[in-house]
Order: sequence, then C-alpha cells, then structure tokens
Amino acid sequence: MFSIQSILSLALKSGNLTSLEAEVLLAHVLIVARSYLRAWHEKTMTEQQKQAFESLVSRRCVGEPLAYLIGRKEFWSLPLVVSNSVLIPRPETECLVELVLNKFNNASGSLSVLDLGTGSGAIALALGVERPRWKIIGIDRSIAALEIAELNAKNNGISNVEFMQSDWFMCFESGKTRFDIIVGNPPYIHPTDSHLEGEIRYEPKEALISLPDGLQDLKKIIRETSDYLAPQGWLFVEHGFDQDVFVRKTMELADFSDVQTYKDLADINRVTVGRKR
Ligand code: GLN
Repeated sequence: MFSIQSILSLALKSGNLTSLEAEVLLAHVLIVARSYLRAWHEKTMTEQQKQAFESLVSRRCVGEPLAYLIGRKEFWSLPLVVSNSVLIPRPETECLVELVLNKFNNASGSLSVLDLGTGSGAIALALGVERPRWKIIGIDRSIAALEIAELNAKNNGISNVEFMQSDWFMCFESGKTRFDIIVGNPPYIHPTDSHLEGEIRYEPKEALISLPDGLQDLKKIIRETSDYLAPQGWLFVEHGFDQDVFVRKTMELADFSDVQTYKDLADINRVTVGRKR
C-alpha cells in the first residue's frame, strides 16, 4: 500500500511537476484539502486512487494545464469550474475587472453591462459579485462555454448575471439595446504566435486566435460597440502586449474619447479603455 507521502515523492521523482502541483492533484483525487495531505501523510490510499493520481500526473507532465485536470480555477477569489471549452481565466484579466470597478466605484448605482466572449463567465461574475445592483449580460458563441458560465453563476450564488448565446453583437438590435459599460477579453493571438505551442495548446483556439492577424475581433468589437453603448458609455478591452497602439488608434477612429491603455501587474500594456462621445 502506498502512503500519501510515498506517492507524492514518487511523483516528484518521476515527473517534471512541482510539489505544489502534485499536492493539488492528489488532494483532488482524494477529495480532501491540501492541508490534509500534510497532517495525514502516513495514510494509505486505494489502488484506484493511486492510478487516478498517476494518470493526472502523466497528463500534467506533458503540459495539460492544472486547471483542466482538476476542473477548477480561482478568479477574483471566485472558485470557477473550467473545462477545455473555456479559456482558463488569467490573473491579467483581473486588471480589467479592477479598472471597471475603480471607474464605477459607486456600488449602489445600477448600471447595465455587457461582457463579450464571456467564456467561464469570469469577468461578468466578478463584476456581478462586486456590484450586486448592476445588470450584467455575458455573451458567448459557444454553448459549451455558456453551460460552464451558468454553472459558475449558480455555484457562486450570483443572480444579477445572465448569459446568452451570441456571435459578438449578433443577438442585439443595433441602436435598440444600450449598455452603460461593455467589456471583453476577445481572441487576440496571432495564428503563428510561437507561444501557442505551449500549455495554451489545450485551450480552445476560437477563444485565443483571431484570424488572420490577431486583430480582427478587436477591430470588429471596437467599430461596432458604439451602436450598443449608451451616450458617454465606456468600453474596456483586453489585448496583447504589442496591440495597444492599434487598439488606441482604432478607438480614436471610432470616435471614442478619453482613450487610455493600462498595464497589468506584469507591467504589460493590457487593457485599453475609451468613452463614447
Ligand atoms: N491572455 C491570453 C494569453 O496570452 C490570451 C487571451 C486571449 O486571446 N483573449 O495566454
């Protein structure tokens, strides 16, 4: 019989994963907290549990993201369910959430918000939990993603966020539905970007790549947003490290005012903001 301690050290010797990752995977298989592994390191497990752990370790060692292996990722302190139909929420996207909250820091006001390409629902739900009086809609083209987003709203008890299927603005009538705030983390990676060969290869391509040059979805969103924003409404978009000039220029051409780019915690130009005139 294998003890917790022996199976963990075996995994670390045999594979290229960190002890934190090994502990997270084992805690997941045994359905316990990580602290349990430390407290009960002599405890043994069944053959089935051992095999389940080893299979996760080998998947991790070839690069499958930890979040997909355990089906969970935390964003803005919200535990979110993730699967390979949704992008794994990134810490840099929390920067977008923070910018929106800072600009609209009156928690009692009621505003309408649209989250374009919501995926797991991360941005919409983070805004929803922080601003319970806002009415938020998250749209995505992918039904599988919307199912995950709905589950995340339910699991976190967030009731002011609604999800709808739409290819960008398709399900809204131009000039009829007006939001106070539109946010989005659209696909913005160039199809030949070398970092697509890394762990990111497990994530949905349609959530990452914008054909043919990484810029088309950003361009479409910026150009069309005005028709769905209330006067003086704000657009917040996440983009790649070298796309800020393009995004600012596109927003200015689309007649946005107060256009400004903000850096993420890694000091990378990450989110550009503009206001409809
Ligand atoms: N920030 C993600 C990455 O670089 C990309 C997200 C996106 O394309 N929207 O891995």
